[in-house]
Amino acid sequence: MFTPYYRMRRLRKNPQIRNMVRETVLTPSDFILPMFVIEGKDVRNPISSMPGHYQLSIENLVKEARDAWDRGIQSIILFGIPAHKDAVGSDATSEEGIICRAVRALKESVPDLYVITDVCFCEYTDHGHCGPIKNGEVDNDATLELLQQQVIVQARSGADMVAPSGMMDGMVGAIREALDEEGFTDVPIMSYAAKFASGFYGPFREAAESAPQFGDRSSYQMDPANGNEAIREVALDVDEGADIVMVKPAMPYLDILWRVKAEFGLPTAAYQVSGEFAMIKAAAERGWIDHDRVMMESLTAIKRAGADLILTYFAKEATEKL
Ligand SMILES: [Zn+2]
Repeated sequence: MFTPYYRMRRLRKNPQIRNMVRETVLTPSDFILPMFVIEGKDVRNPISSMPGHYQLSIENLVKEARDAWDRGIQSIILFGIPAHKDAVGSDATSEEGIICRAVRALKESVPDLYVITDVCFCEYTDHGHCGPIKNGEVDNDATLELLQQQVIVQARSGADMVAPSGMMDGMVGAIREALDEEGFTDVPIMSYAAKFASGFYGPFREAAESAPQFGDRSSYQMDPANGNEAIREVALDVDEGADIVMVKPAMPYLDILWRVKAEFGLPTAAYQVSGEFAMIKAAAERGWIDHDRVMMESLTAIKRAGADLILTYFAKEATEKL
């Protein structure tokens, strides 16, 4: 009989030794909770494809955010759904727009909660694209000017960090310049640096009412097949002054996450998107997988692959579990 000399299982014998040699440990401060704010009074619309998540009017958002804070959530990222959409998404650049009023309300009631604002126009335009349209395409450079206006009103309202998600060329540089000129030199930028044109975004578009009315976003978001191009995208954003770079989605792109972390060594975020969340929820509902186990395994894998921060719809549940 052959007896092995090396026995890896010596360090797996019981929970104590497993805990001692564990390489990746999740903590509540790893998580950023996405939240959706909508116009109206006492609105709490469940998002059917994302159990446990709602479109909330401002007073309910504040209630939920305080509850999240009390449960150990340190940070949220906020998406706004305006009452009126138009061709340029003007609600997004108004200090009386939904997002600015929501941030002010949050900062008044839960001042220590770290509030990150989404910086993009797809929730605000009537055509659902991430900037104004010219000749049937998103006008990149016109969008940059609007992004500058958008971050200024958000920063004035008290946003702790801004997170441009539209994959416009030059967006990080344009936003940094605008923030600095207005004196917001200490507001960091978390850039959606490598954001792929992904089918995993489906449920979010219900939540944010941001599905494109024509075409898709493949002319500005990345081809899922490209890894080297993702590195180039991140390099440009780092050069333009991004403080945190993000890979989105997370689980199908762990190789990209690993490469980005290894290449740049910057604080790196990953967005576990609505479709990743919905798949786990749906399979667990059917009894096909163990919900909590798969939730924690997915988050651990994302962190192990290089994420310092994880934007996740599991933020509250995972924090409770920890
Ligand atoms: Zn967008």
